[in-house]
Amino acid sequence: MGVKCLWEILQDVKATRSLSDLRDQTLAVDLAAWICEAESVRHMQNAVKNPYIRNLFYRVSVLLDHGVRMIFVTDGTPPDLKRDTIAKRLGKESGSFSRGSRNRLNSKFKECCQLLDQIGIPWLKSDGEAEAMCAYLNNEGMADACVTSDGDVFLYGARKVYRNFTTDKRHGEIEYYDMDVIEEKLTLNRRSLVALGLILGCDYCDGVHGIGKVQALDFLKIDQNSDPIYQLKKLVRNVKPVINEEKKPTHCSFCKHKGSKKDHLKSGCDVCYSNCKLSKLDNRKCTCSWHAGETVRKQKNLEISIWEKAKQDPSFPDQNVINEFLRERKIVTNKKLQRKRPNLKGIAELVSDKLDWSEERGVEKALPIWTNWIYVMNEQGHQAKPLRIVKERKKEGTPMFEVVWEICDCDVDEITALEPQSGFKEVFPDMANEFLQEKEKQQKEKKKKPSKKKDTEQTKGKKMTDFYGKKKIPNLEKMEKIQPTQDTSKKGVIEILDDKAEVLTPKSPTKRGSEDIDTLASVLASVSIASRAPSDAEPPKTHDVTSDDVSFALNFSLGSSLLQTPVPRPNREKIDLAIIDKENLGDTAVKIPETESDIKSPPSSALVEPGSPVFMTLADRLRLREKN
Ligand SMILES: [Zn+2]
Ligand SMILES: [Zn+2]
Ligand SMILES: [Zn+2]
Repeated sequence: MGVKCLWEILQDVKATRSLSDLRDQTLAVDLAAWICEAESVRHMQNAVKNPYIRNLFYRVSVLLDHGVRMIFVTDGTPPDLKRDTIAKRLGKESGSFSRGSRNRLNSKFKECCQLLDQIGIPWLKSDGEAEAMCAYLNNEGMADACVTSDGDVFLYGARKVYRNFTTDKRHGEIEYYDMDVIEEKLTLNRRSLVALGLILGCDYCDGVHGIGKVQALDFLKIDQNSDPIYQLKKLVRNVKPVINEEKKPTHCSFCKHKGSKKDHLKSGCDVCYSNCKLSKLDNRKCTCSWHAGETVRKQKNLEISIWEKAKQDPSFPDQNVINEFLRERKIVTNKKLQRKRPNLKGIAELVSDKLDWSEERGVEKALPIWTNWIYVMNEQGHQAKPLRIVKERKKEGTPMFEVVWEICDCDVDEITALEPQSGFKEVFPDMANEFLQEKEKQQKEKKKKPSKKKDTEQTKGKKMTDFYGKKKIPNLEKMEKIQPTQDTSKKGVIEILDDKAEVLTPKSPTKRGSEDIDTLASVLASVSIASRAPSDAEPPKTHDVTSDDVSFALNFSLGSSLLQTPVPRPNREKIDLAIIDKENLGDTAVKIPETESDIKSPPSSALVEPGSPVFMTLADRLRLREKN
């Protein structure tokens, strides 16, 4: 829970950061926060096994890919203060307090840390609350920032904090708070925040009943030069503050200065020398002794209010709470807080087991963690070997190689993955150079013998009707019972690039025959499967897996022509085929903003229903063409 209203108080200094801003930083991550976030998404709970493992695995993968270092922190034994406070609130004996939920969390910590060990990410157990250790690491310069949703982290001494953390760009940027800005703009330092915790209430005390954040902040402003905790202690230890009640002297209603209007009309005002007859002047300030004392009287009233309410709790302010936040900490571990070499096979086995993935998928998802390590360390290693470079590709503008890897000592023989050219060239210069030289040679030969075929000429201006007119009509009976392709990647239609997007690449335009129709039907079947994702699920707010309601388009080839189906999501049932000639087709690889889980969700029946509008559109057209 943390300090009551703290995030509201910090609202004005909230900044945002994107993932790329985090490059080269070391983050101290409060692991419990990530587990709780994953557990709180209902959509994930029912659809995914062990969402906290999945969440951790994906976030760590993305952060490593962005050049971010991490140290994870798990909670140790909570301070007695916390147990007592929460037990008091719940009206229970302190001993029985939520031992069950602690045990459940501990078993999840254990599973998560097993995964972190395989990935080679350091973690440590706090000697108390996890956010306290995160703050310590940050304060000591071992971490550049903390990742937590618990505001107590500032009271424990954190300097930079990321909150509502996400690695999914669709969920926007990450909230960022900097203690330097808090000190400068809000004139609140660590000790003022501890004082706020004492007044407003936190995990370790209930605060002063009846005092809100405005009054608490006003109290801290009374004497900016004195220590806020001392200021609070002094107030409560002393006798009740007294106000010098001074009767307000008569003020002129015209010029707002001391004296009656009657006197001013007669003999003028001593302050402004007006005879108080002319037009009124607004916003006049009076500097008489009564007005000068007004601010002090307000402050005294506030102090009296806090004094009276705080006196109801004889232990206020509790020195134990102050000590908990400000005590010296030490790391209770001999572990080095540095990244270690990942165990590719270990990661793959663990995620396959925990997330119900095939062994191949486990290896495929674990491989980028291994390759990231070899590029960072510039070592070839022995857990996976590149067999060959297939071709050059681009991912978000970065030049990549499509590489076939051999996974050593593993049942999965080969995995194809995209590798950044820069990193790959550093570690495997011979293979990269050989590929590039070969490519250059081929390009030179191509220039010498220009191709006589002009595909663009042939396809230009072609209509869908032309295609059907010439095409041999395949067996419609067979088509209606076509099996939906659940894993189209094996057919070379959909290639998995990463967790978020699937890229559809057109098939080679040289292939002809009924196979193309099958491919088209498969693609449409996949689309109809994808479009049948449950729509009544509550859209998750904080998790990586979600489905955006946007339109997308599919490009694919049919015979020698490239086709595109625009699929606006609200009308996704009505998919129209439009032929687009090669010249007008800019980007042939179109990203589909669908999550993996949606794409891969199994169809409700094994066969594509004959009544599916997606499918019938095509079949009807073919029948129509046959009749004519
Ligand atoms: Zn006057
Ligand atoms: Zn006056
Ligand atoms: Zn006055």
